[in-house]
This record gives sequence, C-alpha cells and structure tokens, in this order.
Amino acid sequence: MADLIEFLRTRLEEDRAAAAVPPQVAGRLLRDAEAKQRLLTVHVPDAVSVHGRQCAECRVPEPGWEYGVPSPFPCRTLRILAAAYADHPDYQPDWTPTA
Ligand SMILES: [Zn+2]
Repeated sequence: MADLIEFLRTRLEEDRAAAAVPPQVAGRLLRDAEAKQRLLTVHVPDAVSVHGRQCAECRVPEPGWEYGVPSPFPCRTLRILAAAYADHPDYQPDWTPTA
C-alpha cells in the first residue's frame, strides 16, 4: 500500500510531460497535476495504531468520537485520485476506493 503515493507521483509526472495540447488546456492540466501533487504532501501516513497506518489528514466518523478517528492509510482521497489510473498495469486492485 505504501507504493500508492509513488504510483500517483509517477502518473502525475507523466501527465505533466504529456501536456502537449493547446496552451490554455496545457496550463489547466499542469495546474491540475500540481494541485494533486500538493494533496500527496498532505495525505501522508502518520501514526500507527492497532488498526495499522493512518492518514495524517483524514478522519472518519465514529460513534462516541466528536471529531471522528483517523482514516486508515491509504485514505479514500488517495484511492479516488489513483482510480483515474485504474487501467494502468501497475494499478493494484486493492487500491479501489470503497464507496
Ligand atoms: Zn487522507
């Protein structure tokens, strides 16, 4: 699972390199890739609990916990980002977002 971040970084670099389209579209594609790369700097593995690694950014609702509990890593945000590349041979089916 730790390879999901590296997988996404590589795909986003490929997207940036492939932005050979009209300048106004290329600019948007580059900004989109940059925004997603910034998400990769926030959604990083943080603490490890009895449930495994947790995302430093995401929390999920949990009865009795006002602010929820940390999301398991890789979190849903990363899984959704990676799903755009589900047809890539290095994509791992266990990265598929649930819900
Ligand atoms: Zn997250």
